Amino acid sequence: MAQDFLIVGGGVVGMAVAYGLAQAGQKVTVLDERDDALRASRGNAGLTWVQGKGLGMPRYAELSLDAVTAWPAFADELQSLTGIDVQHEQRGGIDICFDADEAAARQAEYRALQQASPRIARGFHWRYLDRDALLPYLPGLGDNIHGGTWSPHDGHCNPLYLLRALYAASLERGVIVHPASPASRVARDGGGFVATTPRGDFRAERLILAAGLGASALAPMLGLSGAVRPVRGQVVVTERLPRIAQLPTPQIRQTASGGYLIGDTQEDAGFDKGTTLTMIQALAAKATRIFPRLAQARLVRAWGALRVMTPDGNPLYESSEACPGAYNINCHSGITLAAFHAGDLSRAILDDRLARDYPQFSGERFDVPA
Ligand SMILES: Cc1cc2nc3c(=O)[nH]c(=O)nc-3n(C[C@H](O)[C@H](O)[C@H](O)COP(=O)(O)OP(=O)(O)OC[C@H]3O[C@@H](n4cnc5c(N)ncnc54)[C@H](O)[C@@H]3O)c2cc1C
Repeated sequence: MAQDFLIVGGGVVGMAVAYGLAQAGQKVTVLDERDDALRASRGNAGLTWVQGKGLGMPRYAELSLDAVTAWPAFADELQSLTGIDVQHEQRGGIDICFDADEAAARQAEYRALQQASPRIARGFHWRYLDRDALLPYLPGLGDNIHGGTWSPHDGHCNPLYLLRALYAASLERGVIVHPASPASRVARDGGGFVATTPRGDFRAERLILAAGLGASALAPMLGLSGAVRPVRGQVVVTERLPRIAQLPTPQIRQTASGGYLIGDTQEDAGFDKGTTLTMIQALAAKATRIFPRLAQARLVRAWGALRVMTPDGNPLYESSEACPGAYNINCHSGITLAAFHAGDLSRAILDDRLARDYPQFSGERFDVPA
């Protein structure tokens, strides 16, 4: 029989889970905030990326690998259901190393990760390529680059189209979305849960928090940690330029419309999602070091957005012991993990086996021993 789920948060995480549950025949209602809300889902770089994930927590690397493996079918499914092409490409990606120390450290990290996980040893493919060997993948690469790690698993998409497609697909599957309905309180209510909003109370048998940075206020009300903090990223975009066959990198990628999206900054700026001239200049300098031809390109847009960061940078998948049926889902790579969230993760929530199947990701890892 269909169960009744209330999801607090209509970003890419909440909507991926909403879609997954609705696909499985459940009854889902989503509450979201107003248009001025903090939303990482509308300000990110759009990478579907495995490199660099799970250093220190191999299980996260495994989930990322599972997610990118599921991504092509996920993108096709969204397109056939909604007509929206999320512009997903998975032809591999390069993470650039600017000097020899960075190159040595990166390779040591990837080897350690492969030693820690047999699945990663078997399934995660990568190679270090020096600057000349990178040229076929990154035509016009600057002389002043040491090299980079190549991996076939990495790719990118248009994250705004992804969010739109998730909304369209969820609505198509019967999900009810209430925008401008911020939950100020969540609590147990009889055998289920209630969320209090300015538009009234919403009730359901089970409740999922997917509120991004809103988790830190809401999760403790249900005995969950919600241990997240904002980490600002700034992004700049160039004018549209002729498309070149090249692979994406976390530092810079050419989007389907031709603009170069530049940005991999991380700053502690509290809840300030603004931009700074210093950071925009640093991003422009990095971009022209990678592709000197961009020195003549005009920048047309810049923005800041707040990452949803846990203390160790790994996802937080919590189910409440105090309030069974309540969950909290946070991560800082919700684009990469979208296919996993809509698939295996939402099924694990449905069957109430989140704690059993994903124990590494519970909030207990942040408990301070007495
Ligand atoms: C600059 C930058 C670059 C990034 N690049 C990548 C990348 O390349 N690849 C990748 O995988 N990830 C990337 N990320 C991370 C990715 O964007 C996030 O992991 C993802 O967007 C998190 O989605 P979310 O739904 O958890 O949070 P959000 O997008 O922040 O959404 C949370 C939602 O919850 C709602 N909400 C909050 N509180 C309440 C409340 N009380 N009641 C109702 N609703 C509430 C908000 O209104 C919002 O809609 C990047 C992030 C940034 C900032």
